[in-house]
Amino acid sequence: MQNSPPKPWGTPLTSTARRLLLLGSGELGKEVVIEAMRLGLEVIAADAYAHAPAMQVAHQAHVLNMLDGDSLRQLVELVKPDLIVPEVEAIATATLLELELEGWRVIPTARATQLTMNREGIRRLAAEELGLKTSPYRFAKSSEEYLQAVQELGLPCVIKPVMSSSGKGQSMIRTVADIEPAWNYAQSGGRAQGQRVIVEGFVEFDTEITLLTVRSEEGTSFCPPIGHIQISGDYRESWQPCPLNSDTLKQCQDMGYQITEALGGRGIFGVELFIQGNREGPQTVYFSEVSPRPHDTGMVTMISQNMSEFELHVRAITGLPIGTIELIKPGASAVILASEAGDSPAFTGIEEALKVPTSKLRLFGKPTGRKNRRMGVALAWGNTIEEARERAKACANQIQVTVDPLPEKILEL
Ligand code: AMP
Repeated sequence: MQNSPPKPWGTPLTSTARRLLLLGSGELGKEVVIEAMRLGLEVIAADAYAHAPAMQVAHQAHVLNMLDGDSLRQLVELVKPDLIVPEVEAIATATLLELELEGWRVIPTARATQLTMNREGIRRLAAEELGLKTSPYRFAKSSEEYLQAVQELGLPCVIKPVMSSSGKGQSMIRTVADIEPAWNYAQSGGRAQGQRVIVEGFVEFDTEITLLTVRSEEGTSFCPPIGHIQISGDYRESWQPCPLNSDTLKQCQDMGYQITEALGGRGIFGVELFIQGNREGPQTVYFSEVSPRPHDTGMVTMISQNMSEFELHVRAITGLPIGTIELIKPGASAVILASEAGDSPAFTGIEEALKVPTSKLRLFGKPTGRKNRRMGVALAWGNTIEEARERAKACANQIQVTVDPLPEKILEL
């Protein structure tokens, strides 16, 4: 098991297999699986529902509630993975801590998955321990504490459940009339009922970027910054590179280095930063968040770099060298969303979409849609960032997603 001598680089489904257990089987996990398969790893994909994207390309799939510690432990003991690779935040991280102590290898570290699962953990580490610049913030667990927080921070501000992703439960409070609905929405949109919220002062940033930071055997490497646009807390478009002046880039890399060094382990991290001020003048960098895994905005690297973020992740976690990360061409991504809830999604417009020069499509294969669920992504490169962005958007705009609507009864639940 974990304490045995190092294994050879083996072959899947044989006694020499190196097994990777993926916890979370969405679109990012699917690309991780494909890269792991290319290098001859055996991959077991898990998630809470059957036929999730990464399960469709893995050797084996398991459906379980990953927030349930006993089920998670049972799965690990059954699969006996060499690497446990979380792809989502909603995992029983206390069990990951125990498993790590017992010798199982969690990527990047069990502590990193625990700290980043909860906005409070990572915000306190970044702002209070490392002294990184962040938006002003308060935590609140009752509506009284929330009102006090809003009063202290002033308007506009942003409220988010401490455990949520993809903008769920998040809203911006612009006027007094928004205060109460924002609280109710945060209470309904988080991963757990009645949980704490973070209230953040609104940062009037000019650009927001993801700095993909790789921790490998060779040390820390950075991908060129990725610019992106978020709507309602969820990403819609990204592009690489996002030009920054050299001082700002250095500040971003310093922050990326510090936060990933504090989290430790091996793998790729998506460091989210806000940049205030334009390139000609002085700029201020704010740390926003970090994910200890590939980042959705980083899907652009499938077209813009010599190695995608997924290949980098797999190389880093298996102890292989990274070498030089090169930008081949300016690239962009634009998301393809479902417009309503339903089963058996079908896509039209693919032929027209792929007539856009340089474009590529990734359709994730999610078995159900719901309003604004990400079902695919369009990628394109160009001679300029603007050209790449126009092409990616033109490609995505051609695609229509239709679903078999769910019976009304289910929608009401
Ligand atoms: P998050 O889930 O924290 O990454 O937030 C999602 C998106 O909401 C970010 O990428 C920003 O576009 C926006 N956002 C979040 N917090 C703030 C803030 N304090 N000030 C301005 N915009 C924010």
